[in-house]
Amino acid sequence: MTSFPATARRVRDESLDPRQRRVRLRNCLYHFAPYGFHATWHHLAATHGIPRGIEADPSALVRALDEVETARALVLSRAVAFAAQRRLQKWQGRRVPAALHPWDSWGCHDIAYCPDPQKHPAEPLPVVVDRVLDACAAGPDRAGRCLVCGQEDWDLWRVCQNCGVASGGRGNHR
Ligand SMILES: [Zn+2]
Repeated sequence: MTSFPATARRVRDESLDPRQRRVRLRNCLYHFAPYGFHATWHHLAATHGIPRGIEADPSALVRALDEVETARALVLSRAVAFAAQRRLQKWQGRRVPAALHPWDSWGCHDIAYCPDPQKHPAEPLPVVVDRVLDACAAGPDRAGRCLVCGQEDWDLWRVCQNCGVASGGRGNHR
């Protein structure tokens, strides 16, 4: 499979057929889709007004890609920082505390997985991704509040009734 950056370049390539560029944008989501593939596509199509007949507005694809790239950059920079911190702790002979680290256990993908493609947070992807990463960095004690929307009476292994996110990741929710 081609890399995310190579696929993203094709989305912006105006010499390609808009339908081809649309396919490339969907391919980008195989590499990075914070809500899972279907919910992330639903979010992007609604937010950026991606028309069914993409010839009418191919620039919607670029607007959507910009949002995905911004969210992905947040995850990548945090993952690098986390790996460096872990190496330092190991070098110092310290035990690494058990905490939620989505880039370890879930990968960059599905960081705020939404099993129902139509039910996902309304905010931009970078905002949601940043909030999940902050919550994970702060540790597992969330006092029963959703990592994304703060909804109370929540637990990691349930789908949030308010925002639709299954914070425990794909396949782990009840
Ligand atoms: Zn929520």
